[in-house]
Amino acid sequence: MAKPRALVTGGAGFIGSHLAEALIAKDYHVHVIDDLSTGSFDNIAHLEKDDCFEYTIDTVLDTRVMDKLIKDCDVIFHLAAAVGVNYVIENQLRSIQVNVKGTEIVLEAANRWKRKVVLFSTSEIYGKSEDVPFKEEDDRILGPTTVTRWSYAVTKAIDEIMALAYWREKKLPIVIVRCFNTCGPRQTGQYGMVLPRFVKQALLGNPITVYGDGSQTRCFASVYDVVGGVIGLAECNRAIGEIFNIGSDVEITIKELAEKVKHLSGSSSKIEFIPYEKAYGRGFEDMRRRVPDLSKIRAYIGYEPRMSLDDIVMSVIEHMRA
Ligand code: UDP
Repeated sequence: MAKPRALVTGGAGFIGSHLAEALIAKDYHVHVIDDLSTGSFDNIAHLEKDDCFEYTIDTVLDTRVMDKLIKDCDVIFHLAAAVGVNYVIENQLRSIQVNVKGTEIVLEAANRWKRKVVLFSTSEIYGKSEDVPFKEEDDRILGPTTVTRWSYAVTKAIDEIMALAYWREKKLPIVIVRCFNTCGPRQTGQYGMVLPRFVKQALLGNPITVYGDGSQTRCFASVYDVVGGVIGLAECNRAIGEIFNIGSDVEITIKELAEKVKHLSGSSSKIEFIPYEKAYGRGFEDMRRRVPDLSKIRAYIGYEPRMSLDDIVMSVIEHMRA
């Protein structure tokens, strides 16, 4: 039997490259498209020799390229998007364009060829709601349009709504995954992500920069657990037309995370508290707590995040040391 063929948009990024690897291990043929805007060829270089792997360095905004790639696959994992709080704040227009137009192009072509789409969305969707843990059907609470951060949540909400409309009106099979904070080797701190930033600071002996008073919380999941869950959902017929939270539901404050990184890396860095305004500019809004309710994905595919935060932090430390 021919191998199933997966197209991974944004496949040279952090999550995309791990997903490509996991799909190959599960006997898929994988084609990655990435414009290397935030991804890196280094993330996929080790896959280059594999017969089951192909890549195209191009943008998902090219309709003709996407039409051909989508025609040639069975399932699309659509990850290509603007990523990271810093990146979105610094590149607002580009983020809007890639997130909205890119997804529109993917969904249109997928509908033309009737290919399944697994759409990557984000916990950012819930905005600054304090009603944790967040369930997929919960209300979303966003700040004003003048606060740049919220444009990311709005664009991803448009993506979700477009995908749901294709399912309702055209019976295009789609699955939506809302990723909560996901970490592991290859993630870069360049676009804002806190764990690789802390690890790099600790290894260099620089101050570990906690924004605000560090009492805000997040739940950090291993990229290995997340890509395993995503493939599980892609292969689950019951999941079609549905939205799923994915990540970890073990909560930690950012101050505790800084202490953990310092301890596990044996660093002598000091922990420095930096006002939000200094870190992100005026009028920035952060969310106090971000915790997923994972009961839906547990019920559908028996998802269970397995890797502990200590192990995740250690894997990032080892990767950066290497
Ligand atoms: N953060 C921090 N120091 C940094 C980078 C981020 O204290 O150097 C904080 C950030 O303000 C937020 C949390 O860590 O409260 C997680 O930030 P990240 O950008 O990784 O993800 P998100 O805010 O999207 O959950």
